[in-house]
Amino acid sequence: MTKPAPLPQPVFTDAALETARILFARQADFIMGAAQVDQLPPPDLPEVAFAGRSNVGKSSLINALTGRHGLARASTEPGRTRELNLFLLDEQIRLVDLPGYGFARASKGETKKFQNLGRAYLRGRPNLKRVYLLIDARHGLKSVDAEALDALDLAAVSYQIVLTKADKIKPAEAAREADRTLKAIAKRQAAFPRVAVTSSAKGGGMAELRAEIAMAAHKLDDDALKPGTPTPSAEESA
Ligand code: GDP
Repeated sequence: MTKPAPLPQPVFTDAALETARILFARQADFIMGAAQVDQLPPPDLPEVAFAGRSNVGKSSLINALTGRHGLARASTEPGRTRELNLFLLDEQIRLVDLPGYGFARASKGETKKFQNLGRAYLRGRPNLKRVYLLIDARHGLKSVDAEALDALDLAAVSYQIVLTKADKIKPAEAAREADRTLKAIAKRQAAFPRVAVTSSAKGGGMAELRAEIAMAAHKLDDDALKPGTPTPSAEESA
């Protein structure tokens, strides 16, 4: 029998989790969908973006983070999100929902268009603090995700992997998948060395992810981390 991997340890202090909880409990609104990057608002607020294969649970995650049920359209139709969808959190942070990728029903030309939009955003957004790349905890990284990882490395944008739908597997399996994922991305330059394990359905991992986002957007300092937690990189203080 394989030994169960240890569950990811909480890295944030209670005070930091509370600060992040309060931030995400404040006003959150959909502000716009952009089909082109030149339609975006000026880069005057920190942004964090969410990317992932269609149906990975991106809309559900944005809804769960903000506690707003219908904020991001939790579409049952794979690939409906074809624009950059922007949400404003407490007039402080923009959450950007990037077009989903890897859906079978879209034509090649259509797929290219969404990919180009995502890439143009990644390359040209100076206020983009981190991308959250969502991966289904049951499946782990797949070949369809490799292109997204390559695009993120190429754009040199800090990105963190978020495992979704963790409630569908046992906690020890989710922890093993987190471990495997961390190892798989270890050599990737722009990958953030923590993996979030989440369940939008049950709320698991949401408090920590809120704190990760608040920290990436510079709304929390290094003292938000529990003593002894390694500070991932210098880009935190950039
Ligand atoms: P998107 O295409 O990435 O925006 O994915 P959605 O948020 O629309 O979710 C796709 C499907 O997965 C929906 O049927 C959701 O109800 C389901 N789903 C999303 N998150 C979770 C989760 O945390 N747990 C479970 N069990 N189902 C989820």
